[in-house]
Amino acid sequence: MTSSSPKSVVVTGANRGIGLTIVQQLIKDKNIELIIATARDVEKAGDLKSINDSRLHILPLEVTCDKSIDQFVAKTTELLGSNGLNLLVNNAGVMIHYKTKGEPNRSALAEQFDVNTISMVILTQKLLPLLKESASKSSGDQLSISRSAVINISSGLASISQNNYGSNFMPLLAYSMSKTAVNQFTKAFSIDTKDDHILTVAFEPGWIQTNLGGPNAELTLEQAIPTLVSSFYKLNNSHNGGYYLRDLTVLPY
Ligand code: NDP
Repeated sequence: MTSSSPKSVVVTGANRGIGLTIVQQLIKDKNIELIIATARDVEKAGDLKSINDSRLHILPLEVTCDKSIDQFVAKTTELLGSNGLNLLVNNAGVMIHYKTKGEPNRSALAEQFDVNTISMVILTQKLLPLLKESASKSSGDQLSISRSAVINISSGLASISQNNYGSNFMPLLAYSMSKTAVNQFTKAFSIDTKDDHILTVAFEPGWIQTNLGGPNAELTLEQAIPTLVSSFYKLNNSHNGGYYLRDLTVLPY
């Protein structure tokens, strides 16, 4: 994992599940100097706090709250100094059940989009100056996580072309829509920030046993996340704006 290590990383929703396991993998890379892991309630982030490493900083972040985002960005800026941020992993997310033929529920739809999509856009925009700062430290056009990158944790359910079932089979209408929007954001952001030399990709990690994935999911965290994290290190210009399975297999939008 040494060829293109980022010096600094932010992982959101890192107190459990996929986010926690990404942090546990990244901390093994001794070339990373600073990992900022976020939790809504730092006091209760026991598993994260049990990682005994001075490079790990745990900061509170409620992604749907602008005040929380602003405080987080201020503290992150302070921690990073003039180095900027190399890698942002937008992982925090929720899954709210919603069916076409169920009761219309505006607040459920709004919450689904607020956490999974809107908050990802806002947080990434607010961290853009730090991402630009790190990218400007290198010359040339090369894109990588060691320079400056945004990795958005999407879902296989985001793919319109691959999912041929309605929400009565799986009550995940709102979730799928929110993740399809994540993919659109990924594509647009990759184009908008290409000249700033920021790499942006979306990943489908696989169906994984977590609170969100449930106990019957195909994969354990140990089976899926090391592959996902090793793919981060392989990303280059050819991947910018793309949507990938954890092993970097291309997925259709
Ligand atoms: P978990 O439910 O285990 O973890 C979700 C994480 O997101 C928690 O840390 C949670 O914090 C955090 N979070 C939720 N809402 C907010 C919020 N408003 N502000 C800040 N943090 C928040 O889920 P997973 O680990 O499985 O999911 C992680 C990501 O992976 C999600 O984006 C999910 O959509 C995606 N994914 C998961 C798959 C799976 O099979 N598991 C498959 C495909 C994608 P808290 O503990 O405070 O609630």
